[in-house]
Amino acid sequence: MIQPPSRRIRCVVFNAALGPLDYKVPAHLDVVPGQVVVCPLGPRQILGVVWEEDRLPSADVPEHKLRPILGVVPVPPLGAPLRRLIEWTADYYMAPLSAVARMALSSTAALQGGSTVTEYRLSGKEPGRLTPQRAQAMDLLIDQQATIRELAEIAEVSDGVLRGMVNAGLLEPVTVDADRPYPPADPRHAVPDLTPGQAEVAGRLVAAVGARRFTTFLLDGVTGSGKTETYAEAIAAAMEQGRQVLVLLPEIALTQSFLARFEARFGTAPVTWHSSLKSSERRRAWRAVAKGEAQVVVGARSALFLPFASLGLIVVDEAHEISFKQDDGVRYNARDVAVMRGHFERIPVVLASATPALESLHMASTGRYERLVLPSRFGGAGLPDIKILDLREHAPERGHWLAPPLVEGLRDRLAKGEQSLLFLNRRGYAPLTLCRTCGYRFQCPNCSAWLVEHRLSRRLACHHCGHEVPTPHACPECGEPDCLVACGPGVERIADEVATILPEARVALVTSDTLTSAAKAAEFVAQAENKAIDVIVGTQLVTKGYHFPDLTLVGVVDADMGLEGGDLRAAERTYQQVAQVAGRAGRGEKPGEVLIQTRHPDAPVIAALASGERDAFYAAETEARREAHAPPFGRWAAIIVSSEDEAEARDAARAIGGTAPRLDDVMILGPAPAPLSLLRGRYRYRLLVNARRSSEVQKVIRQWLEPLRFPQGVRVAVDIDPYSF
Ligand code: ADP
Ligand code: ZN
Repeated sequence: MIQPPSRRIRCVVFNAALGPLDYKVPAHLDVVPGQVVVCPLGPRQILGVVWEEDRLPSADVPEHKLRPILGVVPVPPLGAPLRRLIEWTADYYMAPLSAVARMALSSTAALQGGSTVTEYRLSGKEPGRLTPQRAQAMDLLIDQQATIRELAEIAEVSDGVLRGMVNAGLLEPVTVDADRPYPPADPRHAVPDLTPGQAEVAGRLVAAVGARRFTTFLLDGVTGSGKTETYAEAIAAAMEQGRQVLVLLPEIALTQSFLARFEARFGTAPVTWHSSLKSSERRRAWRAVAKGEAQVVVGARSALFLPFASLGLIVVDEAHEISFKQDDGVRYNARDVAVMRGHFERIPVVLASATPALESLHMASTGRYERLVLPSRFGGAGLPDIKILDLREHAPERGHWLAPPLVEGLRDRLAKGEQSLLFLNRRGYAPLTLCRTCGYRFQCPNCSAWLVEHRLSRRLACHHCGHEVPTPHACPECGEPDCLVACGPGVERIADEVATILPEARVALVTSDTLTSAAKAAEFVAQAENKAIDVIVGTQLVTKGYHFPDLTLVGVVDADMGLEGGDLRAAERTYQQVAQVAGRAGRGEKPGEVLIQTRHPDAPVIAALASGERDAFYAAETEARREAHAPPFGRWAAIIVSSEDEAEARDAARAIGGTAPRLDDVMILGPAPAPLSLLRGRYRYRLLVNARRSSEVQKVIRQWLEPLRFPQGVRVAVDIDPYSF
C-alpha cells in the first residue's frame, strides 16, 4: 500500500527557550495554520500552534527525522490577523514568539479537557467535630464554588485538607459546563438621547464600524462629557452586525462601575477577562470568544490577545493610563498593541481619554489618528474651579499636611452635607521610618527602597517586592524602645489628620490595600453614592471613572510629588493625574472646586492646571520632547542587566557597554545602576538607547546582543518604549 506523503508543518511550541519546531502530520489528521496541536518533545508532550512555514525560520530537520504530532486540540484555530499581531508583538518588543502566542491561549488549562470542569462546594452535610483546618475551610468556603486548587487558596489550607473533606462528604462535586451560553446583550435595550455634540461623534464611530475600516480615533473629551455613552453607540453598531467588541480598561477596580453601566445600557453584563478569573470562568470566556459567541469582552490588557472569531471594534478607555504598559514578561504597551490589532483586523480602534497621552495627540495632529472632541460636560455641569494653594504661603500646622484653606473647605463641605476627596498617590502611613535616637532607616533587604509603614496592618512593607515585617517596638540597631518616627505623609496619615480635624466626618480610605476585591470596590461605590461617606482619601485609584454627584471639593495634597526624579513623562503624568482627580469634582448640579497644594506654583504644569490651558502645556511639552529626541520624535529602549550577584551584573553590563555599536542615529548611555538598583534580590544595571524615529532600534539591539554570552545567573531584558526612566 502506498502511504500518502506526510505533510511537514512548523509549530510555535510553548517553551520560550525553543524556536519553532518542525513536525509531520499523520495521514488521519488535518491541520491548518493557527491550529493548536499536541507535539512530542523528547519523552514529553508540549502544546504548539501551527504556523505558516515560510514566515518562521526553519529548524533544518531532515524529512526522515520529523516526528508526527500527537493530536489536534479541539478549539478554533487562531485567525490570521491574530497570528500577524503575535508576530508583530514578538518582533517589536523583542520577545520570544512562543511567549506571545501563549498569551493568546491564556492557560493550557483553558484548552485541554473538553468543555466541562469539576468544581466543589460545601455540601451542607452536618460536619460533627472538625479539625481546626477543616473548621477554617468550612468558614471561608461559604458561597464559594471552584476547583480544589482554587478553593485551597481561598480557604488557606492545603489541597489535601480539601480532598479529605470531599471524601468525608463535606464538599460535593458540581459539573460546570464551560460551553453554556452567555445571555445575549440587546443593542437597543436603553438607548440614551445623545446631545448634538455626542451624536456627531457617535455618528463618526458608528460609520467606521459599518465601513469595517481600520481607523484609530482619539476620543478626546473632558471628564463627564459622555465618552462612555458615545462609544456605547459604536458597540451597539458592532453588535447589530454580529461582530464582537473588545473594551480594555486599565484597572479591575474600574470594571465594577463599568459593568453596572453596561448592563443598564445593554440589559446584561459583558464577558469579563482578567487575571483573577477562576479556571472555569476563564475556560468559558475563552471558548465563547473563540466561537464568536461572546459579544463584548471587557478586560485587562491581556484580553488583547484573545482569539476573537469576528472582531468589529476595539475601545481602550482611559487610554493614557500607564498601567497599560506591562513591565515584566513580554513588556508591551497594550494601547499600542490595540492599535496594531485594529490594523491587522481592519477595524476601528477608539482611544478614549480626558487627558490623552502626548504621543496620541501627536498622532492626531499629524493626521494618523482621527481626533473627536467632546468639549463640555453633559447636563450643563461646569468644569470645576481650580485654585493653587502655595504651601509656602499657607503653611499647614506643625506635623500636619493640609493647609488651612483646604481644612476650611473640608469643614464647609461637611457642614453643607457635600462630599470631599483628598488625593495623594502614596499608599501607607509614611514613606520612610527612622529611629529618633540613632537615625537608623528601615530598608528592604531585597530592594534599594525604604520600607513603608502601614499602620492599619501594623507592618512595614516594601512596595516593590512585597517584603513585610511587623512594625517593631524598638529600633533594631540601637535597641531604643518607642523611638520610631514617621517621615512624610501617606494616605493613611492624611486620613488620620482628617479624623483629628473633623472627628464627626465619615472618612473612607481608598487604596489597593483597602479595595482588595471587586466586592469591596462595589461596597465603596455604594457607600459613596448613598452619602455614607463625607471625605474620601485615596491614591490614584480614586482619580478616574467614579461619578459622585455630591462630591464638590477635591484637594490635591502634594502636586509636586510626581515632579521629583527627572522622569521624562513626569510633567505629563502630573498633569494627567491632577486633571483626572479634578474631574471628580462638581459632576452633579453643584459646582466643584479643586485646591492644589504645591511649593512650585510657577512650574509650567501647575500653572497650566490652574489656568486650564491644556493645549499650551502640551505644546510646550511637545517642544521639550522634540529637543530631547524623546517619543514621539525619537525612540528609547532600555537594556536591563540583572543578577543576584552584584559584580556579575556589573560585569555583564560593562561587557554589553563595551561592544555598543557606533552609529550616527543611535546614542547609547550607560551602563549605570538602574533607578531601583536592587529589586527582588537582583542587582540591576541599565543601558539606555536613544534612536531616531526612523532607525530600526530593535535590529540594532538584536545584532548587538546576539553574539554575547553571559553566566547562567545573568538576565538581560530589553524594554522597548519604556515608561519610566
Ligand atoms: P466620561 O466617560 O466622558 O467621563 P460619562 O459617559 O461617564 O462621561 O458621562 C458622565 C455622566 O453623564 C454619566 O453619569 C452619564 O450617564 C451621563 N450622561 C452623559 N451623556 C448622557 C446622555 N446623552 N444622556 C444621559 N446621561 C448622559
Ligand atoms: Zn523590596
